[in-house]
Amino acid sequence: MRSFEVKSPRTLREAVLALPDDHGPTGARLIAGGQDLLTVLKDDIEQPSTLVRLRGVPDLGQIVVGKDGAVELGALVTLQDLADHIGVFEAQPALCEAATSIASAQIRSQATVGGNLNQRPRCPYYRHPAVVCFKKGGNTCLAEFGFSKYAAILGGGPSYFVHPSDLAPVMLALDATFHLVGKGGARAVKAREYYVLTDVALDTESVRRADEVLTKVTIPAPPRGMRTTYNKFKERASFDFALAAAAVGVRIDGGKIAEARVVLGGVAPKPWHSPEAEAALVGQPMAAEAWRAAGAAAVKDASPLEHNGYKIHLVKGVLYRALESLA
Ligand SMILES: Cc1cc2nc3c(=O)[nH]c(=O)nc-3n(C[C@H](O)[C@H](O)[C@H](O)COP(=O)(O)OP(=O)(O)OC[C@H]3O[C@@H](n4cnc5c(N)ncnc54)[C@H](O)[C@@H]3O)c2cc1C
Repeated sequence: MRSFEVKSPRTLREAVLALPDDHGPTGARLIAGGQDLLTVLKDDIEQPSTLVRLRGVPDLGQIVVGKDGAVELGALVTLQDLADHIGVFEAQPALCEAATSIASAQIRSQATVGGNLNQRPRCPYYRHPAVVCFKKGGNTCLAEFGFSKYAAILGGGPSYFVHPSDLAPVMLALDATFHLVGKGGARAVKAREYYVLTDVALDTESVRRADEVLTKVTIPAPPRGMRTTYNKFKERASFDFALAAAAVGVRIDGGKIAEARVVLGGVAPKPWHSPEAEAALVGQPMAAEAWRAAGAAAVKDASPLEHNGYKIHLVKGVLYRALESLA
């Protein structure tokens, strides 16, 4: 691992001022729990001269649950604290289910909400120190014609990694807002507009500028009667990333699905909102026929590569299971 300087700002302003103006690999990087960033440094994917410790910045570690079920999560909330929070579980269970599904208890006790939502891709080619792919300034995506088992089936190209975060699909399904502070001031971005595909940007996975800190996430009160859940399929029974996952919400009225939200994880370079699956559910009775139709609609436009056609079946499976558990 290369050497670097560590800065420990005591205020948010100090932290922002220590950050660079672009996403170049040698600029300063925020470090929260370090569970992703340190692996990125060990694999020599980035070579930052400076790490900016977020943990000394006050007021970023709070969980607030409103009487109406709205939730506010500070960027430094650990995944374990989120997973264990009874108030959040009662208000918006999908948040706790997704947090519980991530990594191991040891990792969750260090990893933070802000770090999870901003972690870098886990594609084995991207993570290989000797590979210079599109994401590292190169001119190829080896997953497209090489080993594609873990690659995207939706929204891929020019790069085919999948977004690794389990929290992110839930944030989109719950209509969360991400709050950012940078040198240019504060701004709020809807979770649905935060992540970008690789034809928009290759050096980053979101619209967050290099000098911006994600300070908190606000999740509005769910519509009355809305039930939400997160269903994840992983290769190993112990900790692992999603091969496919579904963050789902439904509201039933008069025996039929009045509102549906479907966001997939593990299948695209960003959390994949599926209006097609939602449309297949709305107006239908909450039953197996509609759940199967939603699965078929969700993968209607999928383009699997040589080794990842199995993800089409997994998407149908996680969506069916999520909807069944809500019924
Ligand atoms: C063995 C293992 C298994 C894992 N399994 C899963 C899994 O199943 N599901 C899953 O979702 N994740 C998984 N992860 C990833 C893990 O959840 C993330 O690494 C962790 O959540 C990152 O949080 P952190 O606080 O440690 O972030 P850090 O490593 O400190 O930061 C990660 C990135 O986010 C940036 N960042 C951090 N905080 C902020 C902020 N507030 N604003 C802006 N940028 C910020 C950093 O600059 C860095 O680029 C796994 C990791 C490991 C090591």
